[in-house]
Amino acid sequence: MKTLIIIYSLIFILIFLLINKNLKNNDKKPIIIIDPGHGGKDVGAVGLHSLTESKIVLDVSLKIKEKLEKKRLTVILTRYEDEYISLLDRLKKGYIYDGNLFVSVHANGHKNSNINGIETFYFMNSGKILAQKIQNQLIKKSKNSIDRGIKKKNFFVLRTEIVSCLVEIGFITGTEDYKNLLCNKHKKSVADAISEGVLEYLKNWKKKLIQ
Ligand SMILES: [Zn+2]
Repeated sequence: MKTLIIIYSLIFILIFLLINKNLKNNDKKPIIIIDPGHGGKDVGAVGLHSLTESKIVLDVSLKIKEKLEKKRLTVILTRYEDEYISLLDRLKKGYIYDGNLFVSVHANGHKNSNINGIETFYFMNSGKILAQKIQNQLIKKSKNSIDRGIKKKNFFVLRTEIVSCLVEIGFITGTEDYKNLLCNKHKKSVADAISEGVLEYLKNWKKKLIQ
């Protein structure tokens, strides 16, 4: 009898702890991880006049941070300056900072300068809606850009349980995109579009936590 009481008590405590944990998780404000691709010795794609992907994506990522913080969201960047961070360390940061969304920001490169356009990748199915929302906003806000759609691809940084996607904001090597990516106004609108996509995705998260 005594053993039974102990077992029942333990089950009760376990259920209580689980419910409590779920309640806490529901109250949690979403943490957004923005991952500016490349950096340091890894410059990424190199465009006309030696414009580098690593520099452009950092610019855009800092603008995303600014925009989302105005919406009172917590935003962590995997790098804040021109430094090298391994792919594994980028993923680790997502977990260390308890991220809920992970958006990797890149610019494309191609040997053919006629290739231009914006595309967004996801790998885990959980990231598909986020990818679509971001891609929609990007195309809406940059009407001159070609829509290359969303695609599923096994990028290393997308191999995570965190809802994630990787955005290619244009071809640094493309004659059309290159002009856009040099322009501060365009970079701002790209950052706004990615932020809007994130905010739209979060609409059902916890309405009262997001203004
Ligand atoms: Zn890249």
